[in-house]
Amino acid sequence: MEYDAVIVGAGLFGLSTAYHIKELRPEDKVLLLERLSGPGQGNTAKSAAMFRSFFYSRTNLALADSSIEFYKHVQEDLGFDLRIKWIGYLWLLSSGEYRSLKPVLSEMSRRGLEYRIYDREYLEKTLGLRAEVSADEEARLMGLVDVDYGLLVPKAGCIDVDALVKFYENEARKRGVEIKYGVEVLDLLIEPKEPLGLPGEPFIWQEARVAGVKTSAGVFRAKKTILAAGAWMPLLLDKVGIECHIKSKKRQIFSVKADKEELKKLMHVEGFNRENLLPFLILPRPKIWVKAVPEEGSFWMCYSDDFPREFKVEDEPQPEGEFYEYGIYQVVVKYLPQFKGCRPHAAWAGLYAYCTLDGQPVIFEEHDVMVVGGGSGSGVMKADAVGRIAAALYAGEEYAKLYGGEKFKVSRLGLRERKVEPEKLVI
Ligand SMILES: Cc1cc2nc3c(=O)[nH]c(=O)nc-3n(C[C@H](O)[C@H](O)[C@H](O)COP(=O)(O)OP(=O)(O)OC[C@H]3O[C@@H](n4cnc5c(N)ncnc54)[C@H](O)[C@@H]3O)c2cc1C
Repeated sequence: MEYDAVIVGAGLFGLSTAYHIKELRPEDKVLLLERLSGPGQGNTAKSAAMFRSFFYSRTNLALADSSIEFYKHVQEDLGFDLRIKWIGYLWLLSSGEYRSLKPVLSEMSRRGLEYRIYDREYLEKTLGLRAEVSADEEARLMGLVDVDYGLLVPKAGCIDVDALVKFYENEARKRGVEIKYGVEVLDLLIEPKEPLGLPGEPFIWQEARVAGVKTSAGVFRAKKTILAAGAWMPLLLDKVGIECHIKSKKRQIFSVKADKEELKKLMHVEGFNRENLLPFLILPRPKIWVKAVPEEGSFWMCYSDDFPREFKVEDEPQPEGEFYEYGIYQVVVKYLPQFKGCRPHAAWAGLYAYCTLDGQPVIFEEHDVMVVGGGSGSGVMKADAVGRIAAALYAGEEYAKLYGGEKFKVSRLGLRERKVEPEKLVI
């Protein structure tokens, strides 16, 4: 039996793609394969689950804003609780950084994007922040800079990723997507477009195509094979000489209990959002983030290190104790002394599947195989748009209709006619 589409990977990208293909082509036979025992257990499950609709790049903004609006619609209109909390993002900035960002921020404000600026005194008072770290010799040695401003973006927050995964899985199933868990794709099935039935096909004089997948549960044939295998994408594509421009880096999250009064106070700080929760807080340099997780009574902390962190595809990346101990902790405690003595009670690591071209998703097709990946650390907040664009490419349409009606040219995220506006708000 041949499927119209076989999708590999039930992370958010694969699930959203499956759902949107059925929205566009309800009659098509779609199979979704996942090697793990359930949906969203790859890097989707490792995510910090944060989103923001605040980017300079129109590409970034279109993908994130339309997806966020869709999630809001799912929660508010369809009544599927995604536990969205509009806690905002709060970047702590030095005066130098603020000065260099000002022209970009003014332009964004002209485009209607909302933000608020807080001064140092307010941040010190509300957050118990130690803004003037330059007075501390150790902090100076570490190259830490004083905080002079806070930039708060209100159209931002967190979502329950498990609930979002469930939503797409349910809706995809309801529309007839067949899903098989515990099935690993081992190889792409390569065949000539016009088989002659000769042993050893395809020969160099034949035009070859991807005709499906060879898996731990047998062969599944497809008119279109769609890879949404996240960080593992190159493992399948390198073998057939297709460059997907995706490379992976380990990212680690450390969870610290809010078991002291001063930490509880920081978690439930008032004045930044209606939830009276600490916004997603990003330190000046190194850009460590701190997320309040009230359901767990803990804070999560993470830093996306670049050089010399290796590119590596791993099945079970491990968090490194010393990364927290000698890295994250040393910086956080300088700005937020409330964390003095805090050690993580839990930690995990996942992989960012970076698109090495420009940090935006890649969605393209070659030889009847489609690639949908390169979330680059912001795939949760862009997954709905990515699914719609992938579905439009599958259906042979030039434009995808994002949630809210914006038309997005499919080739903008492809390889040949790629057109991604650079992100000027690099903070
Ligand atoms: C630590 C961390 C924090 C993050 N924080 C955020 C955040 O705050 N906000 C945000 O927007 N994004 C964040 N992300 C990124 C986000 O999680 C991803 O971009 C998003 O979930 C999309 O993932 P995906 O579907 O491409 O990949 P995955 O979720 O990894 O899905 C790929 C799936 O393919 C399966 N697979 C792979 N190979 C095979 C095979 N051969 N056969 C069968 N199945 C296969 C895997 O098992 C996996 O389930 C974070 C990521 C990490 C690691």
